[in-house]
Formats: sequence, C-alpha cells, structure tokens
Amino acid sequence: MEVKLLDLSPQYAPLRDQILKAITDLMDRQAFILGAAVETFEKHLAQYCHTRHALGVSSGTDALLCALMALDIGPGDEVIVPAFTFFASAGCIARTGAKVVFCDIDPATFNIDPADARRRITGRTKAIMPVHLFGLMADMSAINAIAREHNLYVIEDAAQAIGARQNDQPAGSVGTIGCLSFYPTKNLGAMGDAGGICTNDDALAEKVRLLRVHGSGHQYHHKYIGGMFRMAAIQAAVLDIKLPYLDTWHAGRRRNAALYDQLLAGSNVITPKIPPGNFSIYNQYVVRLTQRDEVQRKLAQAKIGSAIYYPIALHQQECFASLGYKAGDFPASEKACSQVLALPVYPELTDEQIHYVADTLRAITG
Ligand SMILES: *Cc1c(COP(=O)(O)O)cnc(C)c1O
Repeated sequence: MEVKLLDLSPQYAPLRDQILKAITDLMDRQAFILGAAVETFEKHLAQYCHTRHALGVSSGTDALLCALMALDIGPGDEVIVPAFTFFASAGCIARTGAKVVFCDIDPATFNIDPADARRRITGRTKAIMPVHLFGLMADMSAINAIAREHNLYVIEDAAQAIGARQNDQPAGSVGTIGCLSFYPTKNLGAMGDAGGICTNDDALAEKVRLLRVHGSGHQYHHKYIGGMFRMAAIQAAVLDIKLPYLDTWHAGRRRNAALYDQLLAGSNVITPKIPPGNFSIYNQYVVRLTQRDEVQRKLAQAKIGSAIYYPIALHQQECFASLGYKAGDFPASEKACSQVLALPVYPELTDEQIHYVADTLRAITG
C-alpha cells in the first residue's frame, strides 16, 4: 500500500467542473486581479473567521508583511516570535527593519511559551507574533494578557490554522490582526499563492486595503509606501468554491487524527496533545520520535510519506547569525527540530491507510 503525505486530487475531483466554470467566467470577463470575485470571497472569509474585516492578499507571507507594515513596525522596534516555526514568521519581521526577538516553545504544544515571551520584553518591544502551528492555536489568553499589560500588538500567524478555535473563538480573530495562508497545502488551499488578513479594527483594515496596492486609494495618489500584495481573482474564485466544504475537511482530518491517537496509544510514538478548550484543524499531525531520521527512512521504504516541519530552528539559520543566538538558547525548539515527524492526515485517507501507517510505525519503533 502507498500512503502519500498529501494528495490533493480527491478533493479536486468533485469540484473540478465548478472550479473550471468559475475560471472560464473570469477569463471570459478578462477579470484578473482583485474585483468582484475577491470582494465576494472576502465577505465569506470574514463571516467564517468571525471578524469585521477580511482582506485577500497575495500570500501568507505577504499577509504577515502587510500586517506588520500596517502596524508601523520598523527600525528600532522589536517583535517576539517563536524560534520553532516556518521561516516567513520571522523573515517578515526582519524585512520591516524591526529586530527579530526569538522565544522558545511549550514542548507539549509546539506553540509559543508565553512565560518565555514575557521574559524577552524590553522597552522596544512593539508586538508579539504567536504562531498557531500545525492547526492548534497558541495560548491566546496568556499572550493577550501579556500584550495588554505591556501595550503590545498581537499579530496572529494563523497560516496553518484557519477554522481552529480556542474557547469558541476562531484563529485570526483574537489578536490585533490575523494572517492566513491559502498555499495549496494548507487546509483551505488555493491553486497558486494567496493569503488573507483578518481584523476587527476598521482603521487597520482600511490601511491594509491601501498598503496592498502600493499605499494607493485612488490611482497615482500614494498615502503610504505599501507593496504589491493583491489577490488574484482566480484564487478568490477557487477559495470561494472551497470554503463551504472546509468544515467537512477539518472533520475528516480530526477523525484521522483521533484514529492515530487511538492506534498509537501506549507505543513509543508521542502523539499530539491538544489542551482543553482547543479545536485543532490538524493542518499537520506531528508526532515525536527519538530515532526520527531512521524511522522516516523506514517509512519511506514502506511507501509512507512523511515530512519534517521544521528541521532547523530559526535562531540557527545562517541569515539570522548577526542576531547572536547560539545552539542551546532555545532548548525546546531545538529538541522539537530533532524529533518531529508529520504523518499523512489529509481528509480523504481511508481507515485502512491510517491502520497501515500506525501498524508500520509501531513495528519500526517497537
Ligand atoms: C505557510 C505559512 C506561512 C506563509 O504562507 P505562504 O502563503 O506560503 O506565503 C507563514 N507562516 C506559517 C506558519 C506558515 O505555515
């Protein structure tokens, strides 16, 4: 049996006709960027995320960059971000000219450790960027309490967490501003690059709207120096077709995750822990293993796909060498890098495939 880490074709097949028709309609109208298709999707996205505003942008990375720019974060400012995340979270902070301040993660959830974040606050700290890794929200009541106490913005990197909830509040709706990615491997994937920005702040939403078109409200008048962060019409049309199915897809991933939890209980494989009050959307199902690399090789021999998110903590990346961090500075992040392995969890997997993965893993690690 073969089990791919991710296979998008069974999701596409039933939607193919609808998607091709929507794309044809746009081509017939020669409608390419922003416009009615994007506005319609934005309205539905805001409803889904329970925010007053949602804006379509060009990628999750650009959502983060645009959000930081909208909050006027730049040289002289510091932003706290976990060392264990996708590169974009920290890369965007650095691109604004602000200083990236890393903090460690909670080993139980792989998410930002609020106590460690608090220790790294200085007079220059302007924002905290919790990342809702693998589809589980960071501890937002703790992060928001710290932010209130120190008057900081909270930028949610919700790229992996659309539809995740904590105490019934959706990811992207609980900080100052929330950033989403519609990269094809995310739970809601476009057919190319796309991202979104959510906020309840009217002024911030208006600023984002200008920043995504070079700070321009009407042609050739530039209020801000923005970027080119526009969403393509095709991506909005595809996402708007997919959005009504998203909760069903989340349910499929959650069912698969629950089956893994059950089948791997009592084994040497450490399964994900979901703290009470959280609804994870399992963008990834990530286990911990002591002999991770060897296990991954053996899984590949058994035709089982897996991936390492992430093999190197960000404070150890060459491009951040000038920040002066060293090995051992973020022990929980570094340990996660050496132990994590993402298993196939996409909604259309069969129970038979999950059993095969779990049985193979038990045999390898037993
Ligand atoms: C995917 C991702 C991003 C960036 O999204 P893109 O759409 O690929 O630019 C940012 N942060 C995290 C945590 C991600 O997983």
